Amino acid sequence: MKPARFDYVRAESIAHAVEALAGAGGDGKVLAGGQSLMPMMNFRLVKPSVLVDINRIPDLDRITLEANTLRLGALVRHRMTAEDALVARHIPVLLAAMKHVAHLTVRNRGTFCGSVCHADPAAEMPMMTLLLDGTIHIASPRGTRTMPARDFLIGSLATALEPDEMVTAVDLAIPQDGTGWAFEEFSRRHGDYALAAVAVLMERADGRMRNVRIAMMGIADTALRFSDVEAALEGREGTPASFDEAATLLQASIEPNSDLSASADYRRHLAGALARRALADAWRRARDTAE
Ligand code: FAD
Repeated sequence: MKPARFDYVRAESIAHAVEALAGAGGDGKVLAGGQSLMPMMNFRLVKPSVLVDINRIPDLDRITLEANTLRLGALVRHRMTAEDALVARHIPVLLAAMKHVAHLTVRNRGTFCGSVCHADPAAEMPMMTLLLDGTIHIASPRGTRTMPARDFLIGSLATALEPDEMVTAVDLAIPQDGTGWAFEEFSRRHGDYALAAVAVLMERADGRMRNVRIAMMGIADTALRFSDVEAALEGREGTPASFDEAATLLQASIEPNSDLSASADYRRHLAGALARRALADAWRRARDTAE
């Protein structure tokens, strides 16, 4: 298949990009890595009248340390994230997640921010942005704004972004030293989109769990956080019984869909099994801050 006709703008700056989007009258699209957009255009699932290529805008391909966050610019490719020393040092759970993203050719081009904007319910990056209390940096002809990831991701392939806005960066909060982490994913073949995945962060003090964070994907229209399960684990001892209870609570709170890849019951079972395993793994890695 070939895409429908479109105009092409090679943006020289963020201001140039958002002006071009505004000029498209609600029908423009940012081109980042093109790994999701181009197939969708080729299948004519989307038919933008203007394609705004941001690949030549300077300085967007950086991962920087800003106070207690890592900032990933709009042109940070999956491969850069997977090989970055700051990510390895400060957010090892993200490194673990990146190993599951697609194959080398896709990772060379696909961008972290592009994946968050694409908002595929089975993608790792939106889930990791939720887990890490991410903040989305947005530019438009009206100026700049920021938005928490939990408000940005609103559904399957749907975000709160306006048609004349582009994402310039995503900030990920760095977990405290000693935080335990785990990432578990199940897919039929390595590099395929996952059937489900879970990521966990937890602190440990006086032999008890603190500030547990659980994010999951593949089991709803968008990646999810589980504030009820997180709250239920606060102050509990990290025992198999607590992890079982948490997994049961999590399973009760989801409504997975059935599709060609898996039934709803199977996805619910998978969610429980992955959550139980990830909680135990994060607990094992967490360093007790009161010891
Ligand atoms: P593009 O394709 O360029 O854009 C995607 C959408 O986001 C478009 O609507 C575009 O307009 C918008 N957009 C992009 N950047 C911005 C921005 N800065 N501001 C505003 N809007 C923007 N992903 C996974 O998570 N896990 C996988 O296992 C996986 N497997 C894959 C396997 C294959 C074979 C392929 C082709 C893709 C796979 N992907 C997977 C998707 C891949 O990660 C994409 O790179 C990613 O989803 C989109 O990033 P991109 O930079 O390519 O965005």
